[in-house]
Amino acid sequence: MATTHHTLIIVGGGPAGLTAGLYAARARMDHLLVEKGAEGGQVLLTDWIDNYPGFPEGISGFELAEKMTAQAKRFELNSLFGNVVSMDLSSPIKRLELESGDSLSCDALIITTGARPRGLGVPGEKELTGKGVSYCATCDAPFYRNLHVAVIGGGNTAVQEAAHLTKFADKVTLIHRRDELRATKIVQEKAFANTKIDFIWDTNVTAIEGKDGVEQLRLLNTNGEESTLQVEGIFILIGVMPNNEMLPLTDLAADQGGFIPTDCETRTAVPGVMAAGDIRSKEVRQVINAAGEGATAVLAAENYLTNLS
Ligand code: NAP
Repeated sequence: MATTHHTLIIVGGGPAGLTAGLYAARARMDHLLVEKGAEGGQVLLTDWIDNYPGFPEGISGFELAEKMTAQAKRFELNSLFGNVVSMDLSSPIKRLELESGDSLSCDALIITTGARPRGLGVPGEKELTGKGVSYCATCDAPFYRNLHVAVIGGGNTAVQEAAHLTKFADKVTLIHRRDELRATKIVQEKAFANTKIDFIWDTNVTAIEGKDGVEQLRLLNTNGEESTLQVEGIFILIGVMPNNEMLPLTDLAADQGGFIPTDCETRTAVPGVMAAGDIRSKEVRQVINAAGEGATAVLAAENYLTNLS
């Protein structure tokens, strides 16, 4: 099987990877961006983005991803559709194995593999995924026209997507494990003002039940009270897990959650390896941060390569 070498490889094509690709292409570096699915990453799951500067009216996640891709391609982004399954970062030449059996190698590497939605891990969740259990309101909301759905979570994603769901569903019940939302105040205010959203506080979902589709949720209040809620759909929007299966986590000194720590220049514990975007160990996961970190990572890669020669 073939091995191809590039000076810089970027793994992942979300906002961090696409920005890194744009900067690398504009700097005329010998680069390759490897992405296993559609370019855009998690931003494709976001209905509407109101806080990315430069779009005063807001922009859909899909359109923003398209624009980022087009901009990088204008500077001749070199990209490959492929799934990286493992990496060897133990020597200065980093090696990446692809699912196809081909290998890649590089002098500098930027990891922008991102994150994916976290599951609840309750009975019925796996069996009913795609049959009423969803992790993406943007993708699945139109299936719930005039129905009653539940949204689980209290962060920006859950609260914002609950509002998006009201464009389709008759009623949206947001279930949160505490009595206070984590979402930004302005996002909360909009949700509280929306008459189609009601709230169940201090409550966890313990099971999702139904034969061929979701019929009801079993709920447990923190005071010990059990109840059920009849719904036709449940959107689980409780945060993210790192896409790290292909990474040598010990070498990269991954944190407890499996995210990759870096310094403020995005440099990881391995010389010549940078991490940017949602895979980084950090508090704030916003598109704007991911894009900024992608740019920083290329500048860090350039510095590393200059010092090598
Ligand atoms: P998040 O901010 O981590 O919030 C996760 C929510 O799910 C929290 O309310 C948490 O409850 C709850 N939760 C976690 N595990 C749970 C479990 N096992 N059972 C029940 N509830 C659980 O995640 P996110 O909303 O997906 O946002 C991820 C990042 O993207 C954040 O940095 C967020 O600000 C950002 N984001 C920004 C925007 C925007 O600015 N427009 C939009 C979307 C996302 P607790 O509150 O009790 O911990």
